[in-house]
Amino acid sequence: MKRVGFFGGTFDPVHLGHLVPAVRAFETFRFDALVFVPAAQPPHKLGEPMTPFSHRFAMLALATQSYDHFLVSPIEVERTGPTYTVDTLRLLQGRFAAEQAFFLMGSDSFSQIGTWSRWEELVDLAHLVVLHRDTVWGEELLAKVPASLRPRICTVEPFLGVADPEGASHSIYLLAHEPFPVSATHLRERLRLGLTIHELVPPEVHRYIVKNRLYHQGSEPDDAG
Ligand code: ATP
Repeated sequence: MKRVGFFGGTFDPVHLGHLVPAVRAFETFRFDALVFVPAAQPPHKLGEPMTPFSHRFAMLALATQSYDHFLVSPIEVERTGPTYTVDTLRLLQGRFAAEQAFFLMGSDSFSQIGTWSRWEELVDLAHLVVLHRDTVWGEELLAKVPASLRPRICTVEPFLGVADPEGASHSIYLLAHEPFPVSATHLRERLRLGLTIHELVPPEVHRYIVKNRLYHQGSEPDDAG
């Protein structure tokens, strides 16, 4: 069975808090491919300033280039208007011939899944892999998700491997890796303040940010190092 992971987000910019848990998921679920899917216009971030898609896509391409089975899909920019994850995922499953699709999201996103458009369809379309964010986990997380989802939820330890799920319904896996406490908001704020982000993004992404003077809003760019 071809297992494909899909990881959606704004990635503004991509950082190690995305990459480290993504690698843990890749190793645990033994995906044949892991596809990063930058959002063109996420419905929950409408009206918020966002770096152009081309830059976010380019940074993802740089961040994933040294991983053999990591890909970046431009699918969201090919469509117009707000895009909903459930529709994108359906298209991607066909495009990548995923016999088993896994959708990755951080635990903060999962805690809000009940607010996502057609979330019931989404959880019937793909298995979910919930990445550990230190802001919400454990009992607090379970209390926030729709009660109907709880019987499908199980916790998995990184690296141990996960057998093909039994039964027709899709599973929700909480991946208990060490949290990597960084967010893109935090990075953008540090750059605005002229602080370094060297240790939080791959070096190629750091160089790209400096070269293109992203996120600085008039302050002196951080040293390209
Ligand atoms: P922002 O701070 O701009 O909201 P973000 O850092 O949360 O951005 P997104 O691009 O919005 O990043 O996130 C894409 C997905 O990655 C989301 O499901 C989010 O929960 C997850 N994610 C982001 N950062 C981490 C992290 N440090 N650990 C685990 N998951 C993460």
